[in-house]
Amino acid sequence: MTETKTFPAASILGYPRIGRRRELKKAVEAYWAGKISLAALDTAAKEVQLTTINRLRDLGLVEPHAVPGSFSYYDHVLDTAAHLGAIPSRFGQLLDDDGQLSLDGYFTLARGSAQQQPLEMTKWFDSNYHYLVPEISPDIRFSITSNRAVEEFEFALANGVQTRPYLVGPVTFLLLSKAADDAPADFSPLSKLEELLPVYRELLRRFAAAGAEWIQLDEPALVVDGEVPAAELAEAVRLAYRVLAEGQDRPGILLSSPYGTLGDLLETVAALPVEALQIDLFKGALPEDLSALKAALADKTLVAGLVDGHNIWRNDLAASARKIEALRSAGIKPAISTSTSTFHVPHDADEETQLDEQLRSWLAFADQKVTEVITLARYATDPAAAAAEIAEASEIIATRAQAPGVQRSEVRSRLAALGPADFEREDYAIRARAQQEELNLPVLPTTTIGSFPQTKEIRSARARANRGELNAEQYQQLMREEIQRVVDLQENLGFDVLVHGEPERNDMVQYFAENLEGFDVTIHGWVQSYGSRCTRPSILWGDVTRSSAITVEWAAFAQSLTEKPMKGMLTGPVTILAWSFVRDDQPLQQTANQVALALRDEIADLETAGIKIIQVDEPALRELLPLRKADQPEYLDWSVKAFRLATSGAASGTQVHTHLCYSEFGVVIDAIDGLDADVTSIEAARSRMEVVNDLEHHGFGRGVGPGVYDIHSPRVPGEAEVTELLRTAVNHVPARQLWVNPDCGLKTRGYAETEESLRNLVAATREMRAELV
Ligand code: GLN
Ligand code: ZN
Repeated sequence: MTETKTFPAASILGYPRIGRRRELKKAVEAYWAGKISLAALDTAAKEVQLTTINRLRDLGLVEPHAVPGSFSYYDHVLDTAAHLGAIPSRFGQLLDDDGQLSLDGYFTLARGSAQQQPLEMTKWFDSNYHYLVPEISPDIRFSITSNRAVEEFEFALANGVQTRPYLVGPVTFLLLSKAADDAPADFSPLSKLEELLPVYRELLRRFAAAGAEWIQLDEPALVVDGEVPAAELAEAVRLAYRVLAEGQDRPGILLSSPYGTLGDLLETVAALPVEALQIDLFKGALPEDLSALKAALADKTLVAGLVDGHNIWRNDLAASARKIEALRSAGIKPAISTSTSTFHVPHDADEETQLDEQLRSWLAFADQKVTEVITLARYATDPAAAAAEIAEASEIIATRAQAPGVQRSEVRSRLAALGPADFEREDYAIRARAQQEELNLPVLPTTTIGSFPQTKEIRSARARANRGELNAEQYQQLMREEIQRVVDLQENLGFDVLVHGEPERNDMVQYFAENLEGFDVTIHGWVQSYGSRCTRPSILWGDVTRSSAITVEWAAFAQSLTEKPMKGMLTGPVTILAWSFVRDDQPLQQTANQVALALRDEIADLETAGIKIIQVDEPALRELLPLRKADQPEYLDWSVKAFRLATSGAASGTQVHTHLCYSEFGVVIDAIDGLDADVTSIEAARSRMEVVNDLEHHGFGRGVGPGVYDIHSPRVPGEAEVTELLRTAVNHVPARQLWVNPDCGLKTRGYAETEESLRNLVAATREMRAELV
């Protein structure tokens, strides 16, 4: 860095990448399907980039480098890996003659090839976004294998905007990576930091040469309690930024630390030789000792992440202004930004014209957040200049608190009257006996997780019903026919516990949101979940109640088609929260209990309708786990209680199942045990049944179904393979506790492979039963 550059007073850390109408998703998927050329994809991608930078400029991000370079074809962690040569050798030669990773090579890493599994996917901090996990082997040779981000910068520049390029920072990059399969057991990717830094330095030089005066390096791994001891982490960060700072001809560095607080690392990070530091002041509190912070910062810019990038509620500008005041009185004049990238929220609340106008006024999607950041930046320079906006925000927030439906007295008094007994069922031993009498199931009962393939016909029926081309009766008739097919299929295959297949559900959370009070759904509110996959989270804004039964008719119809027990299917309170945008005006625990009470009533109605097994899915239980260890016990306590509140009204003879979508059991096994479900199904096939070790070690005492069929891939597991998995399972868990089921719902699969896989699953179970006697 030759001269000190000014960091923009107002900025955001990142912006939705999929396009206002999911243009990038559509283009990328069309390219994958061979329907458009590479050139057409490139054109579409440039269109998305241009629309974004123009939009952000129109919204007022006019200072140089205020617009983040946040485009990505698939994933920002993969982008960073692609630039650094972190390309696993198992993929063979993905580089072209110039040693660069082509776009096809990039997509191969993301999606796999005939021979190779894609990079693993995992959750990005405490969000519902999934990134691709880079694989690092001891003999990796880092080098620059992509120039794409530089070209994107140049493209924006040619269109008149100096963006601020973005990369995942080196420490976070290595902490998010995993050791390649062939690495020795004690190998840690972080040990490669020194070798990695020169490549970052060279990248920084290239950005500077292209005209970039600032670059953003995201280091969210610094806000997490991970496996690396704090002292070692501090050492790594110091090393990394000393080396990067020494580079000649580099842009100014903004080190950003979204998703929480730096905690004890704050002073270390504040003292690094970078030019600007962003901290999350939405989720994290103001540091206690501001004078120490001021001293550590010296002359670098503090970028205050005041506007929440992660949820959709209008900012309490008065509260943010107070934080700015506190900083100012400590002699720190902050620049303003969002707390995280805004790619967790949809583009623009103004487009949700179908929403009640008052509700809409409470919302801030990405575009509204930009405006909020600009207002707060104005406040930081001249408090009077932002007075009108601050007053307006306060007024809207006050109205929101009083609005009809936000607080419902019947919900509040019901919650207040709850006692310990509402969270307890009868002893498991008594329940187990009652259930066996009711159900009379064989050893190793077979079942599935709930959904069956969502065929083209089902999706088109739903679309036609939404457009009004089918009336409710016609739509329901089609769904009933589908349920009949799914029931017949399971009977023919010989399953013991049946499901109705969930054809009537667009999504396991949105379906309930649409049928409960206190929620609304958006039309354009898509957010990226991973790659080209997007979800449209519902908005949970008010007290939750159930005005009528939701699933009962479907379940009762399905049960009427068979003598076998039919599972009733519900989505659990934590998952409903995790996959919605949840009100921020009360503790999550309270909201979770409201949802739990609605589900409790639904369970009672299912029982009355003759349903004897009820599954309450909690695939997201792990997802909301706080990043700081100190915060985890409280979360686990309330999330477990919410599940118990939902389920413990069930009679002893009613068998309560739950389903969880991951296999890293260790951390949450006590919580899972605490759910007190009679049967728990979990993911296991991909990890070769590793979970059974945890189960054995923990002495898990109730029913459990470690998945024996990986439904995330079209591959059909052979009968022998399933038998082998079952053999492993019975060696660790008493056979009388074991269930046989796939890993997860079958909704994304096709019928051909599903039928064959399920047939093998039943055959393997019979074989195993024979071995057992
Ligand atoms: N019952 C749901 C299904 O089968 C569960 C999905 C999930 O775990 N994500 O689709
Ligand atoms: Zn699942």
